[in-house]
Amino acid sequence: MTASTGAAAVADRIERSNARGLNAVIAYDRGILLAQADARSLTTGSGPLEGVAVAIKDNICTLEYPTTCASRILDGYRSPYEATAIARLKAAGALIACKTNLDEFAMGASTEYSAFGRTRHPLDPERVPGGSSGGSAVLVADGAVAAALGSETGGSVRQPAAFCGIVGIKPTYGRVSRYGLVAFGSSLDQIGVFGRTVDHAARVLGVISGRDGNDPTSADLDPLSPGESRTDLSGVVIGTPREFFPPDLDPAIQAACDRAVQRFRDAGASIRPVSLPHTRLAVPTYYVIAPAEASSNLARFDGIRYGLRVSHPGADPAALYRATRGAGFGPEVRRRIILGTYVLSAGYYGKYYQKAQVARRLITQDYQQVFRGPATPDGVDFLFTPTTPTPAFKAGEKVNDPVAMYHADVFVCTANLAHLPAVSVPIGRTSGLPIGGQILAPHFEEAGMLEVARHLERLVDATEEAR
Ligand code: GLN
Repeated sequence: MTASTGAAAVADRIERSNARGLNAVIAYDRGILLAQADARSLTTGSGPLEGVAVAIKDNICTLEYPTTCASRILDGYRSPYEATAIARLKAAGALIACKTNLDEFAMGASTEYSAFGRTRHPLDPERVPGGSSGGSAVLVADGAVAAALGSETGGSVRQPAAFCGIVGIKPTYGRVSRYGLVAFGSSLDQIGVFGRTVDHAARVLGVISGRDGNDPTSADLDPLSPGESRTDLSGVVIGTPREFFPPDLDPAIQAACDRAVQRFRDAGASIRPVSLPHTRLAVPTYYVIAPAEASSNLARFDGIRYGLRVSHPGADPAALYRATRGAGFGPEVRRRIILGTYVLSAGYYGKYYQKAQVARRLITQDYQQVFRGPATPDGVDFLFTPTTPTPAFKAGEKVNDPVAMYHADVFVCTANLAHLPAVSVPIGRTSGLPIGGQILAPHFEEAGMLEVARHLERLVDATEEAR
């Protein structure tokens, strides 16, 4: 198969997914996709992702398409440069398939808060695909592309991966350059990867990872290479943190996790119950720190420099800012900016923002005490948890109840707060809806984590109903 026929097949599948009304795509042009394949076929390229079409969340800057962040405030904006992750994908032979739908500025857990309308779950159009990287997850789950990029500030790759029954990797903070990723919460943000299999996602992560002089937070490390492959899991210690298995956990999710744990044991791993006592602080801590950082990062969208400008009477710049920001930002983004400004304001800074920093440190220390390390030789190598407390929920169910929406992040946002790598792998179904299991690892231990994920993928039948 030539790159061009491969690209035409991808184009057909994207168009079929659009025709089904999944609304996973913000920008796509068949001609742009086929032209990339034609250009590759003129070279003697044989990159590690030669001819592989990758869908891109629309908060990552590309030259092929505008970058909207699913917000009206970026109407008419075109990035003058492309993200490092995009440049690396292209250098590896990959094709940029399209730009995908998301919650506006990646704020949300359902892909309902998009200026382009909500994205639908591929197995049940009444349900949400998760978010905020819902469009990327749907295109992979629907079979349109083998892999896609998303972004993670508080679970936005793992949670939609779990809802859609695919693999989602959130790398260690610093593993992947964020140059060209539109900033949301800078102490949390990281580009992540979706794949139909662990292998697909890992191959893409290998290409986009590694040091980048354009991003001062990128770690001074070589691109991730696949770890040694283990024939079994003997000698591996996997911790199950009790705070992630509350008594009111959805029984099917509990059953799927129990089954996965049993398979880990069968493969030679030892399983150890552990405690991460500050987990209950994670959602409130995240929802102080992420909005605080967002309120600062989003100050740049002022009607002067990017995208939308709402004309206003007179020459008062403050009136222009107000009119533009009032018209350009949707309700959830406005809520975050107000929340974030409040927790940073004089008089409340100590009460909220500083307290959240203390809680973040306690959450991080929980992991340091549980994982094996020089000071903790008896610690565990990895942790296993459910990715989400419920399967994909119905559209409209949480969209007017922000606190309920925020609780969808309960099992995913600690990894972002503690800068840890984590991966969600499909481990079963409940009434036909996918269930995800999460593996967490110490900083920069992605290679081992993905090896355990490959075992999990082989050991469980993800299409089997859990009861
Ligand atoms: N649900 C989280 C939020 O709304 C996750 C966001 C993300 O990871 N981009 O902030």
